[in-house]
Amino acid sequence: MANQFQTIFDLHKKKSLELRTESLEHRRKRLKSLKTWILNNKEKIRAALHADLRKSDTDTDITEIFTVTTEINDALSHLNSWARPKRVSPGMTYLGTSAKIQPEPKGACLIIAPWNFPFNLVGSPLVSCIAAGNTAILKPSEHTPVTSQLIQEMVEDVFEPSLVTVIQGGIPETSALLELPFDHIFFTGSTQVGKIIMAAAAKNLSSVTLELGGKSPVIIDETANPDDAAKKIVWGRFTNNGQTCIAPDYIFISDKVKDSFVASAKKYIAQMFDSKSEGMAHTHDYSRLVNESHAHRLVDMLKEALDSGAKVEFGGDHNAAEKYIEPTLLSNIDETNRLWQEEIFGPIMPMKVYHDMNQVIDHINQNDKPLSLYLFTKSNRMKKRIGSATSAGTMVINDVVVQYAHPNLPFGGVNHSGIGKSHGRFGFMEFSNLKSVLHQRIGLTNALLFYPPYSGFKKWAV
Ligand code: NAD
Repeated sequence: MANQFQTIFDLHKKKSLELRTESLEHRRKRLKSLKTWILNNKEKIRAALHADLRKSDTDTDITEIFTVTTEINDALSHLNSWARPKRVSPGMTYLGTSAKIQPEPKGACLIIAPWNFPFNLVGSPLVSCIAAGNTAILKPSEHTPVTSQLIQEMVEDVFEPSLVTVIQGGIPETSALLELPFDHIFFTGSTQVGKIIMAAAAKNLSSVTLELGGKSPVIIDETANPDDAAKKIVWGRFTNNGQTCIAPDYIFISDKVKDSFVASAKKYIAQMFDSKSEGMAHTHDYSRLVNESHAHRLVDMLKEALDSGAKVEFGGDHNAAEKYIEPTLLSNIDETNRLWQEEIFGPIMPMKVYHDMNQVIDHINQNDKPLSLYLFTKSNRMKKRIGSATSAGTMVINDVVVQYAHPNLPFGGVNHSGIGKSHGRFGFMEFSNLKSVLHQRIGLTNALLFYPPYSGFKKWAV
């Protein structure tokens, strides 16, 4: 295996050197071919996502296809300006020189993806990688085999093997790939595996982007509109069965709005996911957990919470063999429960009534910095207070999850929830080295300031 990967890597490395001198037009052509393939094969993509995660077609269109084609459109529109060297001022000390910041391709890159949005989370970083002029080895998730196979088919149809190659497999294959001296590794997955990736990358001093997970809190204060908050949280939490990295993970709520929030949430669960009243276990708009072991993990967490006194506000039904858990809201959670401690990544939402906002802020600050923080409030003072007192990769006020697709916002975490940013211009930069280029013209800088003997004004220049 290692020898075979080395051969592929060597081909990519060689190709990456050729790409350095290519015009941007070549990158554009590749992006257009990728887009054409995706648009011509929508049905296959929908079928693959349905087979792996029982996603509905519309869900796939929005969260897997549209997200990637939007990245492509953005790159096609802005590639010239992203790639253009930016002149910078010489200031007083560098008079007589000119200087620019020149984005250059990093080279041979590795993209490792998780299973929860298996097409999008390979496709979107691939777009940034190609736009920036690199080669890519893709390692999709072993837990969504139908989609991973389709990604391989797409790559073989669209790209020459020295430019983009798919390597399928799980831990052994990924570990073997991580031995190789990639110029950049873009990893999306859990915090725990992110640490393994960063340790492996350190051996070759490969740069990394780590898009990781964690617990994203929601605060709903007494001024919030509970019906509006319920609608948005129900969608953000239970879509894709809660298997979304930026899904709201747990709620701190004011007791003044709690009852109406719960009543509205029940109403929206039925409206959004069971509109034909078929029953949650049968409706087509509610997808499934990725596998039985993930379902068992969640059912165990649910039982543990119920045993320690949690109250079911709604939901609670489950069938792990069917990879099914009903959308579930719990209150009265014990803080030692795994549901309050670990990333849940499923359709169970724990909620706690808070009495003192200082304690909410302390809780957030004493735990790993979240990928996203969601605040529902009408109070400008509260928006400022939470925004400045806490740290998070992204913060959204009065909505959830929608920040992901914003065309001009960087996406990513901070420390345990991630390192580096992605999407659009930020993704392009992540796959580029910002090379500083200084052109000496008159030579004033050296002669006047730097060369000995250090006498006269040179002695006092600093
Ligand atoms: P994971 O970390 O288990 O796996 C991700 C990838 O790493 C897979 O391709 C897998 O084959 C590989 N891998 C797993 N264990 C490995 C090991 N020991 N050594 C080397 N490679 C290994 O993540 P997952 O379960 O596929 O996805 C869920 C996680 O991803 C959640 O924590 C979620 O929050 C996170 N996530 C983050 C984002 C983001 O953009 N920040 C997006 C989606 C998912």
